[in-house]
Amino acid sequence: MKQRTILFLLGLLFICCGQLVAQSPAPVTLVKAARLLDPRTGNVLSPAAVLIENAKIKEVGAPTKVQAPSGAKVVDLGSATLLPGLITGHAHLLLDVVLPTEAERARHYNGTMTVAELLAIGESPSKRVLLGAQNAREDLESGITTVRNLGHSGIDGDTELRDAINAGRVPGPRILASGRKLITRGSYVQNLNPALADAILNQEFLFIDGADQARQAVRQNEFRNVDVIKVTADENLTVAELAAVIEEAHRAHLKVAVHAVDKTSIQTALDAGADSIEHGDEITEEQLKQMREKGMFLDLTPTSYGHFFTKIFEATIAESLTLYAERLKADERNRQRFNDLAQQVLKSEFVHGFEARDNQLYNSLVQRVLKSGVKFAAGTDMCWHYPGKTCGQATVSRFPTLHEAGMPTLDVIRAITTNAAEMLGWQDRIGAIETGKFADLVAVSGDPIADIHELERVRFVMKGGQVIRNDFVEQSAQE
Ligand SMILES: [Zn+2]
Repeated sequence: MKQRTILFLLGLLFICCGQLVAQSPAPVTLVKAARLLDPRTGNVLSPAAVLIENAKIKEVGAPTKVQAPSGAKVVDLGSATLLPGLITGHAHLLLDVVLPTEAERARHYNGTMTVAELLAIGESPSKRVLLGAQNAREDLESGITTVRNLGHSGIDGDTELRDAINAGRVPGPRILASGRKLITRGSYVQNLNPALADAILNQEFLFIDGADQARQAVRQNEFRNVDVIKVTADENLTVAELAAVIEEAHRAHLKVAVHAVDKTSIQTALDAGADSIEHGDEITEEQLKQMREKGMFLDLTPTSYGHFFTKIFEATIAESLTLYAERLKADERNRQRFNDLAQQVLKSEFVHGFEARDNQLYNSLVQRVLKSGVKFAAGTDMCWHYPGKTCGQATVSRFPTLHEAGMPTLDVIRAITTNAAEMLGWQDRIGAIETGKFADLVAVSGDPIADIHELERVRFVMKGGQVIRNDFVEQSAQE
């Protein structure tokens, strides 16, 4: 082709593109619903309209007051209730724990889940990132528009997943990625081939061994562009080490989430000035008082409350039975063995012990936290393979358990919207349906204050003004 012709075609292209840009104004959507719940105040606006322009909320009010410009897309959700998009404060999108057998766990000093987590670390990073992409999509479809992912993602699995979602390559929620989890050498190093241990562990963790190394670990995560720092506190972690982590992280404007379960670790997190305590199982009254004074968040994770593991195991056994149906039918002895094993697992200390402990723990913890005035949010620690449920369905099934443990339904909703947004430091962009915030909305058919299980039946999801899911009859019209 002649040079002049090429220049002419290029020129034409620019003109066309210019016109295209000029002709497409900012996308405007008007969402209407019978009710809109503001978790902060508990007020319900009825009926409600939300005007969205360029991924953000422009106006919220009565439909008679909110005027949409001509050409705006109208999404009428009829008798539905609108809520802010849900936020999980604690998840592991790139981890799919299949529990090890009783016998395997009995062989290892390090207790219950460590073995399973280590098995995950040994898996191909590509496999894990694809799992993460699936879990992210499934979370979003269930109404979770923001996930704080706290470790177990390999070196850069969660930061890359976040970037891929933001670039529109794969669907998923907003992700706050922690990168590698900071741990002391004491916690996860058992049971591995010593010759390979460090090479394997470095895929998943950064070690804290003295204050200098603690700072270095934060910087390594900073280099990967993390959004938050996750530390696992145990009795080996000193206040000085954790304080160094926190100082370094705060210098980079990153919050620090500290996994702390026992009293000693909780005290270390308190003394060093963590931003949030994850789990907090054994927290004392005195420690709750200190948390309130420091304005620290408690991130509740009612993972196994309400026979969750029993349900997972039953589903896993049922799935296996289907998979092996032909073989088991042909072999009576094998079928007997399989049934015995299944019964043994269901009655095991892991399933029963964990569940009984969590049920008892949360019944008292929730009451104590509410009484103490400590700021709280909720996560689920979701990383369990639950046959028959998506990751999102498994995740949202955990939130109503807080209500079963005594939390008023409005507080449950706050824990995964307004409160969670503040814990993440994102209260200026998510967690509420307010002017200037991202248009992250969900809608349910019923009233979630009257029936918290409505959270498990999200039928409309919008993220950044984009409709992800709409099971309501959509009436789009040009106004
Ligand atoms: Zn966790």
